[in-house]
Amino acid sequence: MGFERFGSKSFTSQAKVAEFVDYLDKGELAYTKCRTCSQAYFPPRADCANCLGNDMEWIAFKGNGKIVTFTHTMYAPTGFEADAPYTIVVVELDGLKVLGRMNKEVPVDTLSVGMSVKVEIVKLPDGQVTYEFLPA
Ligand SMILES: [Zn+2]
Repeated sequence: MGFERFGSKSFTSQAKVAEFVDYLDKGELAYTKCRTCSQAYFPPRADCANCLGNDMEWIAFKGNGKIVTFTHTMYAPTGFEADAPYTIVVVELDGLKVLGRMNKEVPVDTLSVGMSVKVEIVKLPDGQVTYEFLPA
């Protein structure tokens, strides 16, 4: 339990990485890293695809990232219709590629590849919690 609180629309309540939501509640975006082989994962994984171990540690991202690519979504998938339009970005952060949304107040024509961005944790009015990116 607990994972149902992630995102504006959640499709699952059970996850081995529900601790992800605890980090968001603390104001942090976190990833997992395998203690055996050092492989890091975002989205976080509870089991390592590299060495098949499950001794994972949680690490909060620090500092700013850079936009790798982005796309502006005019038509959203089921469950997210009311959110459109919005911009999805892939950000390189602490060596990992992190998929997320750009803050809706940031016009898409002001974005560029390589632009510096920072993580913002967002607590939604209905108690859900998520994250997005803002220009750094
Ligand atoms: Zn591993």
